[in-house]
Amino acid sequence: MTDTLSLITSHNPADPSDVLLQIPAPGAFASIEAVERARDAQPGWLLGGAAARSTALGAVAAAIDTAGAELAELAVREVGKPLTEARAEVARTAAIWRYYAQAPYEPVGAVHETAAGPGLLLTRRRPHGVAGLITPWNFPFAIPSWKAAPALAAGNAVVLKPAPEATACARRLAEIAQRALPEGVFTALPGGAPEGGALVSAADVVSFTGSTVVGRAVVRDATARGIPVQAEMGGLNAAIVLPDADIEQAAAHIAAAIAGYAGQKCTATSRVVAVGSALDPLREALCEALRAIPVGDPADPATVSGPLIDERARDRAGDAWHGLDVLTGGTVPDGPGWYAAPTLVENVPAGHGLLHEEVFGPIAALLPADDVAHAVRLTNSVPYGLVTSVHTADLDAALCGLDGLDTGMIRINAPSTGVDFHLPFGGAKASSLGPREQGRAALEFYTAGRTYTLSPTGAT
Ligand code: NAD
Repeated sequence: MTDTLSLITSHNPADPSDVLLQIPAPGAFASIEAVERARDAQPGWLLGGAAARSTALGAVAAAIDTAGAELAELAVREVGKPLTEARAEVARTAAIWRYYAQAPYEPVGAVHETAAGPGLLLTRRRPHGVAGLITPWNFPFAIPSWKAAPALAAGNAVVLKPAPEATACARRLAEIAQRALPEGVFTALPGGAPEGGALVSAADVVSFTGSTVVGRAVVRDATARGIPVQAEMGGLNAAIVLPDADIEQAAAHIAAAIAGYAGQKCTATSRVVAVGSALDPLREALCEALRAIPVGDPADPATVSGPLIDERARDRAGDAWHGLDVLTGGTVPDGPGWYAAPTLVENVPAGHGLLHEEVFGPIAALLPADDVAHAVRLTNSVPYGLVTSVHTADLDAALCGLDGLDTGMIRINAPSTGVDFHLPFGGAKASSLGPREQGRAALEFYTAGRTYTLSPTGAT
């Protein structure tokens, strides 16, 4: 967090007395300077050619693999990510860099016939210049990487402004990347809102991930400057369980999506919609599965649900179930560490905050639906539209009956959490604004199209 003295402080959420880092925030002008340095470095990076970019991105991937154990431990200590999940995030981060290391060799355009007369028409995609990347703390290596790697592959330079809570992780990622990349091409600039705002005012393209309230302001400011912008924001995701589902498997997937990493994922499940006769067996199986989730020290490889990121987040999760029918959980263990028990509630009145606002903690509401159409209406009845998980043996129902879902991603017989980095990622409504991230979609976002007309000399 950044405090009133403009210090950036990052704590271990499992042991708040363990302070990883306390440094002065560099201030808004530092963002402007970082963008200027990146702008000077970018043409050389682009003109250095596809092979140099591919080799450099591949070297970043290899270095992340080499440092894997140390990076995972850093994520455990700085953002409280359970060790097994932190290892998976680091492995995915290396895979992201490796995937985009091939991108510089991909075609960047097409050749067309002219409508009339001799000559050729060419399309070609070119980088924007300097990409300003603003990221949250919950995926401290993967999210900065799935923005930076495609931006760099396409020939942009990048300035990353990570969340203050993940400053040590971002610094370490930058050290690794900078060893493989030319000077000035990748900068990680610590800071909070002032540094992030200044980055939006100076970059040539902006990619944001974080809360909806900040994301909308970033999109507004970037759009006012006329630069491309994308924002991935909050979620309030539902899991729909049909009566024919494998209830045990559905309960295991949903429990992991509610409580994994203490629910601190934009793709976490926070509403469970049980259709018809699925309600009673699901209630029982889900309570059992949530009680079986190992909660505790994130450094223990068996832990699935660790601490919340800070005291405010723990209090928000701890307050969310007050006045509701708690089926399981509903406790806040004594510290040290900012923990909340995995919690399931039911009979939540329409209009209750839990059904409209993201808590970002390990809590979900169980909601009955009369039939599939009712389940779709309930799922769509929130401001967000990121991802829905559907649990059924009936693919017709999953593909056709649930076609009216308004979320950007649908996962069938899988937890709502978990993404493949080579396909587009994003949602609808208050969850996303602008083009998709990841996969080829990211390469499009970090480039602009140009059309060339080639006429033979002497043609009339
Ligand atoms: P946040 O919005 O508080 O901060 C995100 C980033 O924006 C940080 O780097 C922060 O310093 C910066 N920032 C804050 N104010 C700013 C301003 N005025 N101008 C520019 N930058 C500013 O979010 P957080 O608490 O770090 O992360 C949690 C949120 O992120 C949750 O809402 C979660 O759903 C969301 N999230 C979404 C996705 C997704 O892909 N949809 C993925 C992960 C997290």
